[in-house]
Amino acid sequence: MVFWHPKGWTLYRALEDYMRRRLDAVGYVEVKTPQILDKSLWEKSGHAEKFGHAMFMCESAEGEVLAVKPMNCPGHIQIFNVGQRSYRELPLRMAEFGACHRYEPSGAMHGIMRVRAFTQDDGHIFCREEQVTEESARFIELLRSVYSDLGMTLADTKFSTRPELRAGDDAVWDKAEAALSAAAEAAGETLVLQEGEGAFYGPKLEFSLKDAIGRVWQCGTLQLDFVLPERLDAEYVSEDGSKKRPVMLHRAILGSFERFIGILLENFAGNLPLWLAPTQVVVATITSDADDYARQVVERLTSLGMRAEVDLRNEKINYKIREHSLAKVPVIAVVGRKEAETGQVALRRLGGEGQNILSLDEAVRVLTNEATPPDLARARGIAKPVQEAALA
Ligand SMILES: [Zn+2]
Repeated sequence: MVFWHPKGWTLYRALEDYMRRRLDAVGYVEVKTPQILDKSLWEKSGHAEKFGHAMFMCESAEGEVLAVKPMNCPGHIQIFNVGQRSYRELPLRMAEFGACHRYEPSGAMHGIMRVRAFTQDDGHIFCREEQVTEESARFIELLRSVYSDLGMTLADTKFSTRPELRAGDDAVWDKAEAALSAAAEAAGETLVLQEGEGAFYGPKLEFSLKDAIGRVWQCGTLQLDFVLPERLDAEYVSEDGSKKRPVMLHRAILGSFERFIGILLENFAGNLPLWLAPTQVVVATITSDADDYARQVVERLTSLGMRAEVDLRNEKINYKIREHSLAKVPVIAVVGRKEAETGQVALRRLGGEGQNILSLDEAVRVLTNEATPPDLARARGIAKPVQEAALA
């Protein structure tokens, strides 16, 4: 389980904020469900039987057996089931940054790529059968846009069909497979067929992305499910007043924040784009007579939401530059007495040659634009320089 230190957690939060905005913008409602739930819910959902070996169980002083959630789906159905749902509320897109625990064998764990406690960018879309194609297509569009904002491209999409052992009759599977593959193809996906590899409750799409040096990582999923709504009694009132079961689409884009952050760090070789970098700017002084000015520059940047720090140490400027470069700080703003007097800063880019002397106003404008997350930059019409992935 991960101990997030300040810099890693800052990156995590930047990614979480971005994902939250993307989901808010396309009509998801965010929820938070309990970390520990009575074992009986997991028995009813089928997870205790299928997944029990990987679940952390605990017992209260009164002898109740409780399970730490290994996934968020049953919790979301609990919320769906409160009150009476109408067809008018569908599709209902429910999202949760859900912390899950699974007992992975110690040999399976790997850095932050595979851990026992992870947070999924989880979501469940409750919809009518005839909404599956459109909801799937919308999801794929969002997923592609997110990957592209994060500097990666979609490599391939695997389509897994009905397994030998399955719930539901063939007519239902015919419909489900047709809807999912039609949506993926309409979105321009080339599908790699994995016959018989679907979940027992429905077919699934698995999205792999390609990083800067061509490695392929499976991250996103979209699964169609007719079974869990049945097991946990989800229903809505249809147009003719009869009660119907919603279809459930399980979906994730990043997979888990922990693993995805591992992939991001690999992809950029630590040279994160400005909007994700934990420390975006270090303002470093050449001599102590620029201390007050350096503090003002940092204040100006932090008041605009930038993550800026000041380095007033009595060290040679080259030493400071080398140290912050090794720490992969994307921008170092060098200030001495001359800059303090003229109201300028000398910007140095990580991996770049030389420095760029700008007025403080101009530097603030350039840096705040560049640090704007890609979705907000699009909305505000800010043109951003294209970040070359470090190892491309
Ligand atoms: Zn789910």
